Amino acid sequence: MKLQFIMEKVKIIEVGPRDGLQNIQTFVPTDKKIQFIKKLAVCGFQEIQIGSFVAPRAIAQFRNIKDVVQGVKSLKGVVLSALIPNERGAQEAIACGIKKLIFFFSVSSEHNCRNVKQTPQESIKELQRICRSYLPDRSIILRVDLATAFGCPFAGNITTAAVLRMVEKVAACGIQEITLCDTVGFGNPRMVEEKFSACRRRFPKIAFGAHFHNTRGLALANTLRAYETGIRSFDAAVGGLGGCPYAPGSSGNVATEEMVFLFESMGIKTGVDLKKLLDVCLFLHKTLPQAKLASSLYLAGLPSRKDKL
Ligand code: ZN
Repeated sequence: MKLQFIMEKVKIIEVGPRDGLQNIQTFVPTDKKIQFIKKLAVCGFQEIQIGSFVAPRAIAQFRNIKDVVQGVKSLKGVVLSALIPNERGAQEAIACGIKKLIFFFSVSSEHNCRNVKQTPQESIKELQRICRSYLPDRSIILRVDLATAFGCPFAGNITTAAVLRMVEKVAACGIQEITLCDTVGFGNPRMVEEKFSACRRRFPKIAFGAHFHNTRGLALANTLRAYETGIRSFDAAVGGLGGCPYAPGSSGNVATEEMVFLFESMGIKTGVDLKKLLDVCLFLHKTLPQAKLASSLYLAGLPSRKDKL
């Protein structure tokens, strides 16, 4: 690895309250969600995804999103972001005081049609409408997540050319932050390098982020390769929350504490307090026993020579 990479810090975006809870069938009450987000906020994250402004019939878990926002919006020093599937979601999020919106759709047509009942082309049109309405407002930031960028449970392989075509359309809307998501854990380090290198070469002004799931155990390997490819923004969920609905029993998002441990143990700063983060794992274990924690670091604990971290 080149020395310059070792010196550059990373931004880790905590997505547990959104992607993690999204896949838990049991409804998590408002007070527990607020407690969860407040505990995360003291760990040092620059950004926390707190939920989705989706229709309750689509994902019932987020039916209390407006109350959750009310409970956490006074938090200082952390950007609270939320997912929006459409313009209506954007309106609701902004009305609640959310300043960073994440619009998502899939590169795979099959996945997008099942997930948001639209073709990717229709999602792009929706994005164009959202951008026209909200990009002129400089206080609002829009990020776009491209789901299934590394493979689709229905369509299989997703080519780099297909990802580039979609990035081009998103960039043409004026979006400057795009995250490639390995929605179901199909990615491997070689694929990660190929896709991110191609995207960064072709769109040098776009800030690309990585969103990996550990469905098949490769999330940390993919994280490291993405870092070596120049990516500096990573999504992760504390405790590895967020199993995939298409792979029952599977691991969830890459565990935040393992990602922090990976980077910090290599001398790469994350700004996240690992001990406080492990306290959040303990909180989840006690208060949400239905949430399966998929985290080797939480189970094993930190190495005894803590000063070496
Ligand atoms: Zn995800």
